[in-house]
Amino acid sequence: MHELSIAESVVQIASRHANGRRVTKVWLKVGHLRQVVPSALGFGFELVAEGTPVEGAELELENVPAAGLCSNCGAKSQLGNFPLKCGACGGFDLELLSGEELFVESLELEEV
Ligand SMILES: [Zn+2]
Repeated sequence: MHELSIAESVVQIASRHANGRRVTKVWLKVGHLRQVVPSALGFGFELVAEGTPVEGAELELENVPAAGLCSNCGAKSQLGNFPLKCGACGGFDLELLSGEELFVESLELEEV
């Protein structure tokens, strides 16, 4: 279950940045191509956060659509599911512009 390992790194990053304070909310940017199942990630997050400064924090996912630049026709298109192909010419030779994001965008910390 790859959501669990994602949850682990999110909790690690959040704990590190919290610097001893409690984390109340975590905003996570997730690219479409990461194929993260939000409910599984939420569950893993709760599990891993137990006993850390992140325990009880809300996890907010922001989905980033996938986009690619076609090396065949030069069109920029939004990408759906695999296999990824250009929306204009149907070509498969794409340079990914977005969709592989996976990072903690911001944290909300408890006021001290
Ligand atoms: Zn194309």
